[in-house]
Amino acid sequence: MSGTVAEAVVVGGGLAGLAAAVAVARSGLQTVHLAPKGPRDQRTSALMMPSVDYLRSAGLVAEPSEVGQPLTQIRIIDATDRLIRAPETLFDSAEAGFPAFGWNFPNVKLTEAFEKAREALPNLTTREVSVTAIQTGGEATRLSLSDGTTLDAALLVGADGKKSLIRASAGFRARENAFAQSALVCDLQLGRPIGGASIEFHYPEGPFTLVPAGDNRANLVWIDDRDVLRAAQAGGPEQLKATFREKSKRLFGSIELLTPTYIFPLSSITVDKAGMGGIVLVGEAAHAFPPIGAQGLNLSLRDVADLAAALANTDRTPGWATRVSDDYAQRRSGDLARTGGMVDSLFRSLLADFLPTQAMRAGGLWALKLVPPLRRQAFGLGMGSR
Ligand SMILES: Cc1cc2nc3c(=O)[nH]c(=O)nc-3n(C[C@H](O)[C@H](O)[C@H](O)COP(=O)(O)OP(=O)(O)OC[C@H]3O[C@@H](n4cnc5c(N)ncnc54)[C@H](O)[C@@H]3O)c2cc1C
Repeated sequence: MSGTVAEAVVVGGGLAGLAAAVAVARSGLQTVHLAPKGPRDQRTSALMMPSVDYLRSAGLVAEPSEVGQPLTQIRIIDATDRLIRAPETLFDSAEAGFPAFGWNFPNVKLTEAFEKAREALPNLTTREVSVTAIQTGGEATRLSLSDGTTLDAALLVGADGKKSLIRASAGFRARENAFAQSALVCDLQLGRPIGGASIEFHYPEGPFTLVPAGDNRANLVWIDDRDVLRAAQAGGPEQLKATFREKSKRLFGSIELLTPTYIFPLSSITVDKAGMGGIVLVGEAAHAFPPIGAQGLNLSLRDVADLAAALANTDRTPGWATRVSDDYAQRRSGDLARTGGMVDSLFRSLLADFLPTQAMRAGGLWALKLVPPLRRQAFGLGMGSR
Protein backbone atom coordinates (compact mmCIF):
# COMPACT_ATOMS: atom_id res chain seq x y z
CA MET A 1 0.00 0.00 0.00
CA SER A 2 3.04 2.33 0.13
CA GLY A 3 2.87 5.46 -1.98
CA THR A 4 -0.78 5.29 -3.12
CA VAL A 5 -2.62 8.35 -4.46
CA ALA A 6 -6.17 9.44 -3.70
CA GLU A 7 -8.20 12.28 -5.19
CA ALA A 8 -9.43 13.16 -1.69
CA VAL A 9 -8.46 12.07 1.83
CA VAL A 10 -10.56 12.88 4.90
CA VAL A 11 -8.73 12.58 8.23
CA GLY A 12 -10.73 11.94 11.42
CA GLY A 13 -13.55 9.56 12.31
CA GLY A 14 -15.62 11.95 14.51
CA LEU A 15 -18.99 13.22 13.37
CA ALA A 16 -17.47 16.06 11.29
CA GLY A 17 -15.08 13.64 9.54
CA LEU A 18 -17.82 11.10 8.83
CA ALA A 19 -20.15 13.77 7.40
CA ALA A 20 -17.30 15.22 5.33
CA ALA A 21 -16.24 11.81 3.97
CA VAL A 22 -19.80 11.15 2.80
CA ALA A 23 -20.12 14.62 1.21
CA VAL A 24 -16.75 14.43 -0.57
CA ALA A 25 -17.44 10.93 -1.93
CA ARG A 26 -20.90 12.04 -3.05
CA SER A 27 -19.24 14.76 -5.14
CA GLY A 28 -17.76 11.91 -7.21
CA LEU A 29 -14.12 11.94 -5.97
CA GLN A 30 -12.30 8.70 -5.17
CA THR A 31 -12.13 9.23 -1.41
CA VAL A 32 -10.16 7.62 1.42
CA HIS A 33 -11.40 8.13 4.99
CA LEU A 34 -8.70 7.72 7.64
CA ALA A 35 -10.65 6.95 10.80
CA PRO A 36 -8.78 5.24 13.65
CA LYS A 37 -11.08 3.53 16.17
CA GLY A 38 -11.64 5.69 19.26
CA PRO A 39 -13.74 5.54 22.44
CA ARG A 40 -17.54 5.82 22.10
CA ASP A 41 -18.63 9.47 22.01
CA GLN A 42 -20.96 9.61 25.04
CA ARG A 43 -22.18 13.17 24.37
CA THR A 44 -25.42 14.22 22.77
CA SER A 45 -25.84 16.94 20.16
CA ALA A 46 -28.66 19.43 19.99
CA LEU A 47 -28.95 20.13 16.27
CA MET A 48 -31.07 23.03 15.08
CA MET A 49 -33.61 22.65 12.26
CA PRO A 50 -31.32 23.83 9.40
CA SER A 51 -28.78 21.16 10.46
CA VAL A 52 -31.49 18.51 10.66
CA ASP A 53 -32.63 19.51 7.15
CA TYR A 54 -29.01 19.12 6.02
CA LEU A 55 -28.79 15.62 7.59
CA ARG A 56 -31.86 14.64 5.58
CA SER A 57 -30.75 16.17 2.28
CA ALA A 58 -27.22 14.75 2.58
CA GLY A 59 -28.59 11.24 3.17
CA LEU A 60 -27.06 11.05 6.67
CA VAL A 61 -30.28 10.67 8.71
CA ALA A 62 -33.54 9.88 6.93
CA GLU A 63 -35.93 10.20 9.86
CA PRO A 64 -34.81 12.21 12.94
CA SER A 65 -37.50 10.65 15.16
CA GLU A 66 -35.72 7.28 14.77
CA VAL A 67 -32.52 8.76 16.22
CA GLY A 68 -33.38 11.61 18.61
CA GLN A 69 -35.87 13.77 20.49
CA PRO A 70 -37.46 17.04 19.33
CA LEU A 71 -36.55 20.28 21.13
CA THR A 72 -39.63 22.47 21.31
CA GLN A 73 -38.85 24.85 24.17
CA ILE A 74 -35.83 26.53 25.76
CA ARG A 75 -36.26 27.65 29.36
CA ILE A 76 -33.64 29.89 30.95
CA ILE A 77 -33.54 30.27 34.73
CA ASP A 78 -31.15 32.76 36.34
CA ALA A 79 -29.91 30.77 39.36
CA THR A 80 -27.39 33.38 40.49
CA ASP A 81 -27.85 35.57 43.53
CA ARG A 82 -26.47 38.54 41.64
CA LEU A 83 -27.65 42.07 42.22
CA ILE A 84 -29.05 42.28 38.68
CA ARG A 85 -30.77 39.06 37.73
CA ALA A 86 -32.32 38.11 34.43
CA PRO A 87 -36.03 37.18 34.22
CA GLU A 88 -37.00 33.52 33.74
CA THR A 89 -37.45 33.25 29.98
CA LEU A 90 -39.25 30.62 27.91
CA PHE A 91 -38.75 30.38 24.16
CA ASP A 92 -41.29 28.26 22.30
CA SER A 93 -40.65 26.97 18.78
CA ALA A 94 -44.33 27.48 17.88
CA GLU A 95 -43.70 31.22 18.21
CA ALA A 96 -40.88 30.97 15.66
CA GLY A 97 -43.30 29.14 13.36
CA PHE A 98 -41.59 25.73 13.65
CA PRO A 99 -42.82 22.46 15.18
CA ALA A 100 -39.38 22.26 16.89
CA PHE A 101 -36.19 24.32 17.23
CA GLY A 102 -34.28 21.18 16.45
CA TRP A 103 -33.53 17.67 17.70
CA ASN A 104 -31.32 16.24 20.42
CA PHE A 105 -29.36 13.21 19.20
CA PRO A 106 -27.07 10.78 21.08
CA ASN A 107 -23.70 11.03 19.29
CA VAL A 108 -23.42 7.23 19.33
CA LYS A 109 -26.62 6.97 17.24
CA LEU A 110 -25.56 9.76 14.88
CA THR A 111 -22.24 7.96 14.38
CA GLU A 112 -24.06 4.72 13.49
CA ALA A 113 -26.30 6.55 10.99
CA PHE A 114 -23.37 8.38 9.36
CA GLU A 115 -21.35 5.13 9.14
CA LYS A 116 -24.28 3.45 7.41
CA ALA A 117 -24.38 6.26 4.83
CA ARG A 118 -20.59 5.91 4.36
CA GLU A 119 -20.83 2.15 3.73
CA ALA A 120 -23.26 2.71 0.84
CA LEU A 121 -20.70 4.68 -1.22
CA PRO A 122 -18.58 2.52 -3.58
CA ASN A 123 -15.97 5.26 -4.22
CA LEU A 124 -15.24 5.65 -0.47
CA THR A 125 -12.65 3.49 1.29
CA THR A 126 -12.19 3.55 5.06
CA ARG A 127 -8.89 2.74 6.78
CA GLU A 128 -8.51 2.53 10.57
CA VAL A 129 -5.12 4.25 10.63
CA SER A 130 -3.99 7.64 11.86
CA VAL A 131 -1.80 10.25 10.23
CA THR A 132 1.61 10.66 11.86
CA ALA A 133 3.03 13.44 9.64
CA ILE A 134 2.25 15.41 6.50
CA GLN A 135 4.43 16.93 3.83
CA THR A 136 3.01 19.87 1.86
CA GLY A 137 4.38 21.84 -1.07
CA GLY A 138 4.06 19.39 -3.96
CA GLU A 139 1.09 18.87 -6.28
CA ALA A 140 -0.43 16.64 -3.60
CA THR A 141 -0.06 16.46 0.18
CA ARG A 142 1.89 13.38 1.32
CA LEU A 143 0.54 11.69 4.45
CA SER A 144 2.62 9.31 6.58
CA LEU A 145 0.34 6.78 8.25
CA SER A 146 0.55 4.80 11.49
CA ASP A 147 0.87 1.50 9.57
CA GLY A 148 4.12 2.69 7.98
CA THR A 149 2.64 3.47 4.54
CA THR A 150 2.24 6.82 2.78
CA LEU A 151 -0.72 8.24 0.89
CA ASP A 152 -0.81 11.26 -1.46
CA ALA A 153 -3.94 13.42 -1.42
CA ALA A 154 -4.89 15.97 -4.07
CA LEU A 155 -7.53 17.36 -1.69
CA LEU A 156 -6.94 16.88 2.04
CA VAL A 157 -9.79 17.38 4.54
CA GLY A 158 -8.59 17.78 8.14
CA ALA A 159 -11.38 16.71 10.49
CA ASP A 160 -8.95 15.58 13.16
CA GLY A 161 -10.41 17.50 16.09
CA LYS A 162 -9.20 20.19 18.46
CA LYS A 163 -5.58 19.04 18.50
CA SER A 164 -5.49 18.78 14.71
CA LEU A 165 -2.15 17.65 13.35
CA ILE A 166 -3.26 18.77 9.88
CA ARG A 167 -3.95 22.32 11.14
CA ALA A 168 -0.60 22.55 12.94
CA SER A 169 1.53 20.89 10.24
CA ALA A 170 0.01 22.67 7.23
CA GLY A 171 0.68 26.13 8.71
CA PHE A 172 -2.89 27.28 9.42
CA ARG A 173 -2.80 30.24 11.80
CA ALA A 174 -4.99 29.58 14.84
CA ARG A 175 -5.80 31.36 18.08
CA GLU A 176 -6.31 29.02 21.02
CA ASN A 177 -7.55 29.74 24.50
CA ALA A 178 -7.94 27.16 27.30
CA PHE A 179 -10.63 27.87 29.91
CA ALA A 180 -10.58 27.03 33.62
CA GLN A 181 -14.04 25.50 33.11
CA SER A 182 -14.87 22.00 31.90
CA ALA A 183 -18.17 20.33 30.99
CA LEU A 184 -19.51 17.31 32.87
CA VAL A 185 -22.01 15.20 30.92
CA CYS A 186 -24.19 12.20 31.81
CA ASP A 187 -27.70 10.84 31.27
CA LEU A 188 -30.30 11.19 34.00
CA GLN A 189 -33.68 9.70 34.87
CA LEU A 190 -35.89 12.41 36.38
CA GLY A 191 -38.90 12.03 38.67
CA ARG A 192 -40.93 14.18 36.25
CA PRO A 193 -40.89 14.46 32.44
CA ILE A 194 -39.53 17.67 30.88
CA GLY A 195 -41.34 17.19 27.56
CA GLY A 196 -39.43 18.84 24.73
CA ALA A 197 -37.91 21.55 26.93
CA SER A 198 -34.21 22.21 27.27
CA ILE A 199 -33.82 23.77 30.72
CA GLU A 200 -30.80 25.96 31.49
CA PHE A 201 -29.99 27.02 35.05
CA HIS A 202 -27.49 29.87 34.80
CA TYR A 203 -24.98 29.93 37.68
CA PRO A 204 -22.10 32.41 38.04
CA GLU A 205 -19.62 29.56 37.30
CA GLY A 206 -21.48 28.35 34.18
CA PRO A 207 -24.79 26.86 33.03
CA PHE A 208 -26.32 23.58 34.28
CA THR A 209 -28.44 22.36 31.36
CA LEU A 210 -30.92 19.49 31.04
CA VAL A 211 -31.71 18.49 27.46
CA PRO A 212 -34.70 16.23 26.73
CA ALA A 213 -33.83 12.63 25.87
CA GLY A 214 -37.35 11.14 25.76
CA ASP A 215 -39.84 10.16 28.50
CA ASN A 216 -38.35 11.09 31.90
CA ARG A 217 -34.77 11.03 30.62
CA ALA A 218 -32.48 14.04 30.19
CA ASN A 219 -28.89 14.65 29.10
CA LEU A 220 -26.99 16.84 31.51
CA VAL A 221 -24.32 19.34 30.43
CA TRP A 222 -22.90 21.05 33.52
CA ILE A 223 -20.22 23.70 33.02
CA ASP A 224 -18.18 24.66 36.05
CA ASP A 225 -14.59 25.01 37.26
CA ARG A 226 -12.66 21.84 36.43
CA ASP A 227 -11.77 21.20 40.08
CA VAL A 228 -15.40 21.50 41.19
CA LEU A 229 -16.48 18.96 38.55
CA ARG A 230 -13.66 16.56 39.41
CA ALA A 231 -14.54 16.76 43.12
CA ALA A 232 -18.23 16.14 42.33
CA GLN A 233 -17.31 13.14 40.17
CA ALA A 234 -14.99 11.74 42.85
CA GLY A 235 -17.75 12.02 45.49
CA GLY A 236 -19.61 9.05 43.97
CA PRO A 237 -23.21 8.59 42.75
CA GLU A 238 -25.12 9.52 45.92
CA GLN A 239 -23.29 12.82 46.35
CA LEU A 240 -23.66 13.55 42.63
CA LYS A 241 -27.41 12.97 42.76
CA ALA A 242 -27.72 15.32 45.75
CA THR A 243 -25.70 17.98 43.89
CA PHE A 244 -27.86 17.58 40.76
CA ARG A 245 -31.08 17.95 42.81
CA GLU A 246 -29.66 21.09 44.40
CA LYS A 247 -28.46 22.60 41.10
CA SER A 248 -31.82 21.90 39.40
CA LYS A 249 -33.66 23.63 42.28
CA ARG A 250 -35.46 20.37 43.16
CA LEU A 251 -37.85 20.91 40.24
CA PHE A 252 -37.85 17.31 39.00
CA GLY A 253 -38.41 15.12 42.08
CA SER A 254 -35.99 12.21 42.18
CA ILE A 255 -32.85 12.09 39.99
CA GLU A 256 -31.10 8.83 39.05
CA LEU A 257 -27.86 8.42 37.07
CA LEU A 258 -28.29 6.34 33.90
CA THR A 259 -24.63 6.51 32.81
CA PRO A 260 -21.23 7.30 34.32
CA THR A 261 -20.15 10.97 34.20
CA TYR A 262 -17.60 12.24 31.65
CA ILE A 263 -15.64 15.48 31.87
CA PHE A 264 -14.55 17.46 28.79
CA PRO A 265 -11.99 20.30 29.16
CA LEU A 266 -13.14 23.49 27.42
CA SER A 267 -11.14 25.65 25.06
CA SER A 268 -11.69 27.87 22.07
CA ILE A 269 -9.98 27.71 18.69
CA THR A 270 -10.39 30.02 15.72
CA VAL A 271 -8.47 29.85 12.47
CA ASP A 272 -7.75 32.86 10.26
CA LYS A 273 -8.90 30.89 7.25
CA ALA A 274 -10.25 27.37 6.93
CA GLY A 275 -8.73 26.37 3.60
CA MET A 276 -5.58 26.89 1.50
CA GLY A 277 -3.28 25.02 -0.87
CA GLY A 278 -5.60 22.04 -1.41
CA ILE A 279 -6.21 21.53 2.32
CA VAL A 280 -9.44 22.35 4.19
CA LEU A 281 -10.30 22.11 7.89
CA VAL A 282 -13.76 21.07 9.09
CA GLY A 283 -15.28 20.61 12.55
CA GLU A 284 -13.22 21.21 15.67
CA ALA A 285 -10.01 21.22 13.64
CA ALA A 286 -11.25 24.63 12.44
CA HIS A 287 -13.28 25.91 15.39
CA ALA A 288 -13.99 25.01 18.99
CA PHE A 289 -15.80 26.76 21.80
CA PRO A 290 -17.69 25.96 25.00
CA PRO A 291 -20.88 23.93 24.45
CA ILE A 292 -23.35 26.72 25.11
CA GLY A 293 -26.01 27.65 22.60
CA ALA A 294 -25.38 24.21 20.99
CA GLN A 295 -23.26 25.50 18.10
CA GLY A 296 -20.26 23.16 17.59
CA LEU A 297 -21.63 20.33 15.48
CA ASN A 298 -24.20 22.66 13.88
CA LEU A 299 -21.29 24.77 12.63
CA SER A 300 -19.39 21.63 11.55
CA LEU A 301 -22.33 20.52 9.39
CA ARG A 302 -22.37 23.97 7.78
CA ASP A 303 -18.61 23.46 7.07
CA VAL A 304 -19.46 20.22 5.31
CA ALA A 305 -22.35 21.79 3.37
CA ASP A 306 -20.01 24.57 2.16
CA LEU A 307 -17.32 22.02 1.24
CA ALA A 308 -19.91 20.18 -0.88
CA ALA A 309 -20.90 23.50 -2.50
CA ALA A 310 -17.25 24.38 -3.24
CA LEU A 311 -16.73 20.93 -4.81
CA ALA A 312 -19.87 21.32 -6.93
CA ASN A 313 -18.69 24.77 -8.04
CA THR A 314 -15.22 23.70 -9.26
CA ASP A 315 -14.36 21.85 -12.45
CA ARG A 316 -11.69 19.17 -12.20
CA THR A 317 -9.09 20.79 -14.44
CA PRO A 318 -5.50 21.02 -13.08
CA GLY A 319 -5.27 23.03 -9.86
CA TRP A 320 -8.85 22.08 -8.87
CA ALA A 321 -7.98 21.14 -5.26
CA THR A 322 -6.44 24.55 -4.55
CA ARG A 323 -9.46 26.25 -6.09
CA VAL A 324 -11.76 24.15 -3.87
CA SER A 325 -9.80 25.09 -0.73
CA ASP A 326 -9.81 28.81 -1.63
CA ASP A 327 -13.52 28.79 -2.42
CA TYR A 328 -14.23 26.90 0.82
CA ALA A 329 -12.18 29.39 2.90
CA GLN A 330 -14.14 32.27 1.42
CA ARG A 331 -17.53 30.61 1.96
CA ARG A 332 -16.71 29.82 5.62
CA SER A 333 -15.10 33.08 6.75
CA GLY A 334 -18.27 35.03 7.69
CA ASP A 335 -20.05 32.18 9.47
CA LEU A 336 -16.97 31.15 11.47
CA ALA A 337 -16.30 34.70 12.65
CA ARG A 338 -19.98 35.37 13.44
CA THR A 339 -20.66 32.13 15.33
CA GLY A 340 -17.33 32.16 17.20
CA GLY A 341 -17.92 35.78 18.27
CA MET A 342 -21.50 35.07 19.35
CA VAL A 343 -20.57 32.06 21.53
CA ASP A 344 -17.58 33.85 22.99
CA SER A 345 -19.62 36.89 24.08
CA LEU A 346 -22.41 34.67 25.42
CA PHE A 347 -19.94 32.58 27.45
CA ARG A 348 -18.19 35.64 28.86
CA SER A 349 -21.49 37.34 29.72
CA LEU A 350 -22.61 34.21 31.61
CA LEU A 351 -19.45 34.20 33.73
CA ALA A 352 -19.02 37.95 34.09
CA ASP A 353 -18.51 39.44 37.56
CA PHE A 354 -18.65 42.88 36.00
CA LEU A 355 -21.91 44.60 36.97
CA PRO A 356 -22.52 46.46 33.65
CA THR A 357 -22.09 43.15 31.77
CA GLN A 358 -24.60 41.47 34.08
CA ALA A 359 -26.97 44.40 33.54
CA MET A 360 -26.59 44.10 29.76
CA ARG A 361 -27.26 40.37 29.86
CA ALA A 362 -30.30 40.75 32.12
CA GLY A 363 -31.51 43.66 29.97
CA GLY A 364 -31.01 41.55 26.85
CA LEU A 365 -33.09 38.72 28.26
CA TRP A 366 -35.82 41.16 29.34
CA ALA A 367 -35.84 42.57 25.82
CA LEU A 368 -36.04 39.07 24.34
CA LYS A 369 -38.82 38.19 26.76
CA LEU A 370 -40.87 41.29 25.95
CA VAL A 371 -40.21 42.14 22.29
CA PRO A 372 -41.44 39.47 19.83
CA PRO A 373 -39.53 40.73 16.72
CA LEU A 374 -36.25 40.67 18.69
CA ARG A 375 -37.05 37.18 19.91
CA ARG A 376 -37.68 35.98 16.36
CA GLN A 377 -34.35 37.50 15.27
CA ALA A 378 -32.62 35.68 18.15
CA PHE A 379 -34.28 32.39 17.09
CA GLY A 380 -32.79 32.84 13.62
CA LEU A 381 -29.29 33.59 14.96
CA GLY A 382 -29.32 30.69 17.45
CA MET A 383 -30.54 28.27 14.81
CA GLY A 384 -27.77 29.31 12.44
CA SER A 385 -30.23 30.19 9.65
CA ARG A 386 -28.47 31.63 6.63
C1 LIG B 1 -19.85 18.54 26.41
C2 LIG B 1 -20.10 18.91 24.97
C3 LIG B 1 -21.41 19.00 24.51
C4 LIG B 1 -21.65 19.38 23.18
N1 LIG B 1 -22.94 19.53 22.76
C5 LIG B 1 -23.17 19.98 21.50
C6 LIG B 1 -24.51 20.21 21.04
O1 LIG B 1 -25.48 20.01 21.79
N2 LIG B 1 -24.69 20.66 19.76
C7 LIG B 1 -23.65 20.90 18.91
O2 LIG B 1 -23.87 21.31 17.77
N3 LIG B 1 -22.37 20.68 19.31
C8 LIG B 1 -22.11 20.24 20.56
N4 LIG B 1 -20.83 20.02 20.99
C9 LIG B 1 -19.75 20.15 20.02
C10 LIG B 1 -19.60 18.87 19.20
O3 LIG B 1 -19.63 17.73 20.04
C11 LIG B 1 -18.33 18.89 18.42
O4 LIG B 1 -18.28 20.08 17.67
C12 LIG B 1 -18.23 17.74 17.47
O5 LIG B 1 -18.48 16.52 18.08
C13 LIG B 1 -16.81 17.78 16.95
O6 LIG B 1 -16.64 16.76 16.07
P1 LIG B 1 -15.26 16.60 15.29
O7 LIG B 1 -15.52 15.44 14.40
O8 LIG B 1 -14.82 17.88 14.71
O9 LIG B 1 -14.16 16.27 16.42
P2 LIG B 1 -13.89 14.92 17.24
O10 LIG B 1 -15.16 14.29 17.65
O11 LIG B 1 -12.91 15.29 18.29
O12 LIG B 1 -13.22 13.95 16.17
C14 LIG B 1 -11.88 14.07 15.77
C15 LIG B 1 -11.46 12.72 15.24
O13 LIG B 1 -10.18 12.84 14.65
C16 LIG B 1 -9.43 11.69 14.97
N5 LIG B 1 -8.00 12.05 14.87
C17 LIG B 1 -7.30 12.90 15.65
N6 LIG B 1 -6.03 12.97 15.23
C18 LIG B 1 -5.92 12.13 14.16
C19 LIG B 1 -4.86 11.76 13.30
N7 LIG B 1 -3.63 12.25 13.45
N8 LIG B 1 -5.11 10.87 12.31
C20 LIG B 1 -6.36 10.38 12.11
N9 LIG B 1 -7.41 10.68 12.90
C21 LIG B 1 -7.18 11.56 13.91
C22 LIG B 1 -9.86 11.33 16.38
O14 LIG B 1 -9.59 9.97 16.63
C23 LIG B 1 -11.34 11.65 16.32
O15 LIG B 1 -12.08 10.52 15.92
C24 LIG B 1 -20.56 19.65 22.31
C25 LIG B 1 -19.24 19.54 22.78
C26 LIG B 1 -19.00 19.21 24.11
C27 LIG B 1 -17.58 19.15 24.61
